[in-house]
Amino acid sequence: MSTSSPPSRRPGLPLRARLATTVGGAAGRASRLAGRGDGSVIGGVIGLRLEPDLLSLLARGRSVVLVTGTNGKTTTTRLIAAALGALGQQVASNAFGANMEAGLVAALAKAPDATMAVLEVDEKYMPAMLGATTARVVTLLNLSRDQMDRAAEIWLLARRWRAALASADCRVIANADDPLVAWAAEEARHVTWVAAGQRWHDDSWCCPNCGSHLLRDGEDWHCGECPNRRPQVSWVLAGDEVIDPTGGSRPLDLILPGRANRSNAVIALAAAEVFGVGVAQALSAMRQVRSVAGRYTQVRRRGCDLRLLLAKNPAGWLEALDILAPAPLPVILAVNAQVPDGRDTSWLWDVDYRRLRGRPVFVTGERQLDLAVRLEADEVAFRMVGSVDEAVDCAHGGSMDVIANYTAFQQIRAVLGRTA
Ligand SMILES: [Zn+2]
Repeated sequence: MSTSSPPSRRPGLPLRARLATTVGGAAGRASRLAGRGDGSVIGGVIGLRLEPDLLSLLARGRSVVLVTGTNGKTTTTRLIAAALGALGQQVASNAFGANMEAGLVAALAKAPDATMAVLEVDEKYMPAMLGATTARVVTLLNLSRDQMDRAAEIWLLARRWRAALASADCRVIANADDPLVAWAAEEARHVTWVAAGQRWHDDSWCCPNCGSHLLRDGEDWHCGECPNRRPQVSWVLAGDEVIDPTGGSRPLDLILPGRANRSNAVIALAAAEVFGVGVAQALSAMRQVRSVAGRYTQVRRRGCDLRLLLAKNPAGWLEALDILAPAPLPVILAVNAQVPDGRDTSWLWDVDYRRLRGRPVFVTGERQLDLAVRLEADEVAFRMVGSVDEAVDCAHGGSMDVIANYTAFQQIRAVLGRTA
């Protein structure tokens, strides 16, 4: 991964593409030296200006795994990369979530000799990135509202996925418990169906095939009007265990907490199997993952142990609330509404905050008032604070969880130091 190594020793990369990766890499290094993040995106942007086909040229000859969905992309990407690392070969990956074309270019350019790549891809860009990388495996986690997306936009996305996957020759690993994902993957040539669970049902009550009401019976679902139903699964998340296609079960003893991460892990195991990495081997590699781009990181601050949780949308808040330390341990909630978060905070009303009753709750962030109104309505007692430090001082030591949405999370990480 050394940035001083030649831009590419892979055979067949044309001169123009080599030049583009060199110039892009130099721009990325300059940006890093100037203190502007990790510089990967700017390097990719410049590389693409010089060679618009750079992504497909860089992907050529590699086995690429694409990971997409509304929630869990970054973590699943990390888990798959860890599992494939067990094969002893270098794996290229955009580990810090730069998931549009420039981020993918940067990840591949940084690892010219890696024969495998695990790449997180923004939901909207998946069809184009699938075309450019001719990925061997595409994993579909879930589809729900993010930021200001409306249901109609999610349906449009599912339709685009469906069209792209129907005409591609890749293996699709798809979550059968999400009806929109199942519909999107239905016409793909090779599908591995995974019962990875769906905690958030609110965006999938209608049949994507005919628009009728979907009927649910436990994990099972089917349409009352057309033949659309949950596919037969070969991998299952059953409580704290994974059941593999042979019927063998094994505890999913990850360091990463919560059901959402166990769900990500089962999908990752199914993806790893395509490359011949068995469950035991993959799991032992995945157990080394303790935090993902700062998430789940434990930070000691003014005598208090803080654990950082990211929650970007209603489904993400549900998952974060699920893994909170038990009451009466305090919690800090931080909400912003900058462009990456979505300007509209009305989604706060889709989250049930009542389970926060009975513990100290601190509210911060640029839109703390919006969250305060929401908590009032759920009769959750809280205290407004100007910063995480103020909350820590009020709590007098011990430990606390911090749940923050995207830019609030980045601000808190900047204050606490990037420890992971
Ligand atoms: Zn239907």
